[in-house]
Amino acid sequence: MHEFTQEVEELAKAVMEYSLERLKSNPPLDGPRSEQDLYAELGNTITPQGLGGKQTLKVFTETLALACISTDHPRNLAFIPSAPSEYANLFDLVVGASSLYGGSWQEGAGAVFAENQALKWLIDIAGLPKSAGGVFVQGGTMGNLSALVVARDQARKAHPNVKRWVIACSAESHSSITSAAHVMDVDVLKVATNSENRLDGAHVAAAIDELHTNSDSRVFAIVGTAGTTNLGIVDDLATLADCAQKRQIWFHVDGAYGLAGLCAPSVRPLFNGVEHADSFIVDPHKWLFAPYDACALVYRNPELARETHTQHASYLETLHDDSWSPSDYAIHLTRRVRGLPFWFSLAAHGTNAYTEAVEEGIRLAKESAKLISAHPNLELVYEPELSIVAFTRKGWTAAQYQAWSDALLEKQIGFIPPSKNLGEPILRFAFVNPWTSLDDVQVILDTL
Ligand SMILES: *Cc1c(COP(=O)(O)O)cnc(C)c1O
Repeated sequence: MHEFTQEVEELAKAVMEYSLERLKSNPPLDGPRSEQDLYAELGNTITPQGLGGKQTLKVFTETLALACISTDHPRNLAFIPSAPSEYANLFDLVVGASSLYGGSWQEGAGAVFAENQALKWLIDIAGLPKSAGGVFVQGGTMGNLSALVVARDQARKAHPNVKRWVIACSAESHSSITSAAHVMDVDVLKVATNSENRLDGAHVAAAIDELHTNSDSRVFAIVGTAGTTNLGIVDDLATLADCAQKRQIWFHVDGAYGLAGLCAPSVRPLFNGVEHADSFIVDPHKWLFAPYDACALVYRNPELARETHTQHASYLETLHDDSWSPSDYAIHLTRRVRGLPFWFSLAAHGTNAYTEAVEEGIRLAKESAKLISAHPNLELVYEPELSIVAFTRKGWTAAQYQAWSDALLEKQIGFIPPSKNLGEPILRFAFVNPWTSLDDVQVILDTL
């Protein structure tokens, strides 16, 4: 297996050539094809004899890759796209070539040391104590779930007789909170937002106190969203923290997208209160210029997470000394050191470059909002708070939005699927890519 034959040597060249070309040139937008269509072209690629490296690479580069939308295209403003730095992407190749095991200190000390320094930067800018710590997990969904399981374990210790456990959050919180509740078999209390569309302590306190008075259910976690996925609105974290603390309830901040803004002075005050969080998450694969898939999950008191998540078995016992094993802090055991591309880029570029790149997204959102306000057919839904701009096209039905979006992708101009706000269709731009320019925005606006 380890023979680097002439054939492998040639494949290595081809792989490097393709990868470097992909990283150097403007990414194509591309788009999906049907399963039947792909099968008609490729047939079954898994065969007893194998296709050989060269041919299989060709299947990928000439067909499969073109049937995937590039999330780093400057006019892909859908959902939350991605914009890995060149350094992060290049280092991902190194990670792939290195067979690093990221579950334990024993096996991955050097890599885990580096991941922890990247986490430390996030801990520092969030204002959590030095003793805070965590782990990179696959995504915000796993991060939220892992943190909420710890929160419930703590609540169970304090209140052993509770029948139903409840998570309090807003209706705008991410779908992964509801998904976590489903996995955990707990309920969700969706609390109304205030006049600024933020979840705040007063509203949550009233809803929790009413629930605790009138039922046997008990809230074990308050989730504040630091940058809603749809509109980029940051909940009032300071009053949520206060409400949680007074009731001895775990305070979790879901900042999968928005907490990247911690490093941007122009929006940093929006996150005041995050320093009181018992746990928080932020996805470097969203707005911190790292490739998929990486979510930074941080606990104020990592010891509590370790009590919940450490796996015990005779074959794992050598791992349980005093060293820091990432597998102890979330629902996982074997893990890729997925925080390393983020670490490499952060270490190489320095944190100032991150501040500038995040501020660039915020600036672009503000400039775009101006263009939208001045556009005769468009209406801004909400003055952008972070880097998401939501707007409507006057007079359009949902079907017209969809047809416009389909045509935009068909013509390879951009990828902007419609979303909804208060039940009505909207369009939204999510800016995370420093290579997106105001000219790119204008190109899209000209089609509206
Ligand atoms: C994207 C997002 C998530 C989910 O993160 P994944 O990495 O996609 O699992 C959770 N919360 C918020 C606020 C998000 O924007």
